[in-house]
Amino acid sequence: MSTFEKISVLGTGVLGSQIAFQAAYHGFAVTAYDISDEAVAAGEGRLDALVATYAGALDSGDRTKAEAARGRLTTTSDLALAAQADLIIEAAPEIIDVKRELYGRLGELAPEHTVFATNSSTLLPSDIKASTGRPDKFLALHFANHIFLFNTAEVMGSDETDPAVFQQVVVFAEAIGMVPIEVHKEKAGYVLNSLLVPLLDAAMELAAFDYATPEDVDKTWRIGTGSPAGPFQILDIVGLTTAYNISNAHPSEKSQKIAAWLKENYVDQGKLGVATGEGFYRYG
Ligand code: NAD
Repeated sequence: MSTFEKISVLGTGVLGSQIAFQAAYHGFAVTAYDISDEAVAAGEGRLDALVATYAGALDSGDRTKAEAARGRLTTTSDLALAAQADLIIEAAPEIIDVKRELYGRLGELAPEHTVFATNSSTLLPSDIKASTGRPDKFLALHFANHIFLFNTAEVMGSDETDPAVFQQVVVFAEAIGMVPIEVHKEKAGYVLNSLLVPLLDAAMELAAFDYATPEDVDKTWRIGTGSPAGPFQILDIVGLTTAYNISNAHPSEKSQKIAAWLKENYVDQGKLGVATGEGFYRYG
């Protein structure tokens, strides 16, 4: 059973709203914080929309459980209020100075026993721990987008994280319906992206350099490994804008060629993946 009772989530964007909803869906009282009344209102809209999403994905359209979860969620733009929790999960923008400033304030406002967890995808706990004022009670708890379907939660501390705190967070992750993945040392990309990013990169290289079509790359992966989806099917879910931005940010000749291929054949034609009805494949 989780030792945490009161949960707060900081940031009510794409991931923060899902994390808050997931915890509430599993019975926790959750306070969701955002920086202004406008941001809170936008977050409320995302939380409202998640009622139908959860009901559809998990309860065959029956809204009873999802509506009860919505009732366990309160929102606020008062950080002092959100700080009154046993576990605070931070899903603020992926900007190091924003996170450091936030943890600096939080460290002053939160009770001594409160544990802080960051959902950062690209920053390591070590990049942020000094600003928390409590590095022993700070670690990463990393969710994937659409956490109600893709329910891994990677738990990763710094070398200063208290092992007992790490275990408490593992237990909490289980309590909210996640499959905890314990990462024993700091690793950029955790487990999932350490595997997935090179796979997607290799797939795009094969297609962008005309070795094989996306369809044949996917077919090979599905038949050869028994996996239900190939890398281009996964890329359609991730979104081609994200794939383009990541490739384009890399100066290497290979990455620039992949970026140009994505731009010309897909992004510039509005083929951005599942979200727009077409990417490498057509949907709907
Ligand atoms: P987002 O832009 O959708 O949401 C960020 C939210 O944080 C917004 O509601 C914003 O108003 C709020 N915010 C701004 N400044 C803040 C502050 N000082 N304190 C608290 N909240 C603040 O971003 P997102 O996609 O939800 O990403 C949030 C975090 O989750 C990032 O660290 C990112 O790496 C991580 N993450 C994202 C994904 C994804 O697929 N989007 C997946 C895994 C992890």
